[in-house]
Amino acid sequence: MTAIVQVALDAPLDRLFDYSAGEAAADLAPGSMVEVPFGRTRQVGVVLGRVGETAVEGAKLRTIIRVLDDRPALTPDILRLARFCADYYHYPLGAILLATLPPRLKNAAPYVADAPWLVVTARGRVEAPAPRARARLALLEALRQAPQAREHLRANKQGRHAAALVAAGWAEWTRLPPEAASTPGSLPAPATAEQQVALDTLLPALGEFGVHLVHGVTGSGKTELYLRVIDAVLAAGRQALVLIPEIALTPQLEGHFRARFPGRRFATLHSGLAEAARTENWLAAPGCDVLLGTRLAVFAPLPRLGLILVDEEHDTSFKQQDGLRYSARDVAIARGKQAGVPVLLGSATPSLESYARARSGRYRLLELRQRAIAAARLPEIGLVDLRHVPQENGLTAPALAALRATLARSEQSLVFLNRRGYAPALYCPSCAWVSPCPHCSARLVLHRGAQRLKCHHCGFETRIPSECPDCGNPDLKPLGQGTQRVEETLAANLPAARIRRIDRDTMRPRAWAELGTAVHGGEVDVLVGTQMLAKGHDFPNMTLALILDADGALYSPDFRATERLFAQLMQVAGRAGRAEKPGRVLIQTAFPDHPLFRHLQRHDYAGYARELLAERKQLELPPYARQILVRAEATTMDAALAFLRRAAALAPEAPAVSVFAATPAPMARVANLERAQLLIQSPSRAALQAFVRDWRPRLESIRPRPARWSLDVDPLLF
Ligand code: ADP
Ligand code: ZN
Ligand code: ZN
Repeated sequence: MTAIVQVALDAPLDRLFDYSAGEAAADLAPGSMVEVPFGRTRQVGVVLGRVGETAVEGAKLRTIIRVLDDRPALTPDILRLARFCADYYHYPLGAILLATLPPRLKNAAPYVADAPWLVVTARGRVEAPAPRARARLALLEALRQAPQAREHLRANKQGRHAAALVAAGWAEWTRLPPEAASTPGSLPAPATAEQQVALDTLLPALGEFGVHLVHGVTGSGKTELYLRVIDAVLAAGRQALVLIPEIALTPQLEGHFRARFPGRRFATLHSGLAEAARTENWLAAPGCDVLLGTRLAVFAPLPRLGLILVDEEHDTSFKQQDGLRYSARDVAIARGKQAGVPVLLGSATPSLESYARARSGRYRLLELRQRAIAAARLPEIGLVDLRHVPQENGLTAPALAALRATLARSEQSLVFLNRRGYAPALYCPSCAWVSPCPHCSARLVLHRGAQRLKCHHCGFETRIPSECPDCGNPDLKPLGQGTQRVEETLAANLPAARIRRIDRDTMRPRAWAELGTAVHGGEVDVLVGTQMLAKGHDFPNMTLALILDADGALYSPDFRATERLFAQLMQVAGRAGRAEKPGRVLIQTAFPDHPLFRHLQRHDYAGYARELLAERKQLELPPYARQILVRAEATTMDAALAFLRRAAALAPEAPAVSVFAATPAPMARVANLERAQLLIQSPSRAALQAFVRDWRPRLESIRPRPARWSLDVDPLLF
């Protein structure tokens, strides 16, 4: 009788599958990856454990094809974390386990390691080729100074010499280049008084689980505080996992870290990496000291984990919006709890969820109220009342005057507008046609450079029509402002200014770093861009932030819209006057009396948070309630709604749980599918979870099924 093992597969069915271990029995520890027959195909799966018996009849029990021993088994802590996610997000365990893996390890093709760095070996430091092998000698000399990248060697036609050095034992290929231990670390300034108070709390708490929320105004020295805490973690021989929201921020932060911790090993993980690099970095993670990454890094193998840091914890990009709709911040907290290590959340504008927990004492609140550089004061925030001040192409006279004055002082400005493209729509003045997307309930956005109309939701694009498709009028007009148009208007009004636009249309991660250098080098006078502008960068000469048209969010049906807008505006404001020069923020708005602006002008996050929390409490909204959203997509709205109505009818009896009415989604049609949603809410997380555990199997049984449906636990965007 051969051993039977349970295997998790990325199958739509939420269950495990039994297989006979066959001859592989001895190698099948939990976490091992295997290839198995599945239906008429083969699949890669993860072994979860042995079972004594199986309900599968003898002849039907299939045998594992082979163990994928070219890759490490998933570690027990990752298996445990995946189990938590399966349970909490009501998502199949096998799908989660496979989703945690880097692309190349998800399939059975043999994995050939790609070790991209050539380094000198101990022997290579003392021995050397004969002097007449000049090219080899030169390469060895170079290696003694620094590791060489394979690509670089190839480009210089040194591949043959590299191979010869490796054959002689003087050099070897590795995954991560070891840091040059000799570069001196940048010496930190003494901690500010507030940083010291935070450190006095954090350092003694490093050995155990706890969530610490660092709420610090921009420029208060949060990054510096993180570095000191990480330093202590590394000194204890442990690893730090650092999660950040934007790929674009990794090079900058990585540079900071490398300079500060010479001789330590760093790895990065984010979806902007090429497949091979992502796979290599994932494989290298167990050996690194600091892993820096976006949300997917929360699932990386880190056997010596000592700290998880989530920077900009309020950022919505920590929440995945498809497949396993997890929040990396919340999974980080679960992981910290399982591993018994502290979790540090940091933000100038914490999410109300985290802030409420910190205020109630569940998390520890650490506040940095002062800017770290004594002379750097918070910027003055002024409003331009659009009800009384006319604007031309989106810009008012006071805004232009402020830009001119900043330019005259040879200082830099930032112009923030959350709409990319040239104009949000193209408009026909004679019949009111407004460039609809044929596949979505959205407008096609006018992009001038590419001369296209593009849908930002489904990707549809088309050339700009020469006349109105409805009435034939040839005189079509751009409607509203996008960043391209603002750039054009600025260029016309400030002919001497060097203007750069950044948004997703222009920015690749590398271009981002290059832009940082250009702004620091004084090659840019005015930066125009979308929310990407708001994050991270620290430009000492940037003294004016101009915010155009942020009003859309003030009266949005999404209850989190004002929270997000406030965070965004605080971030943008934080860009102005980071160093010795005083900064100024100017906001154009038609609602200057909105409470959001009153708090913003006083830089009063806490005050606004208290006000929003009081409102949420009264309306019984998160964080005072837990929500789960069932989303359905179908070819007709009727079909999507019918599925959800049936789902509501099958809801188990649960007094503490409210099932709301099924409604069309705010964005009702995307890519030819009609979308509807059903909200479930409860003041108790446990009650809601128990409810969904009972309910979900019933949902699976509903026929006919819509094209797609999913559960979104703790939905962030409606
Ligand atoms: P945050 O991450 O909160 O926005 P940073 O950590 O980037 O703030 O710090 C803002 C500025 O203050 C940076 O220029 C940083 O070098 C400086 N700074 C931080 N801590 C100190 C300190 N203890 N002494 C002097 N300068 C500091
Ligand atoms: Zn028309
Ligand atoms: Zn579309």
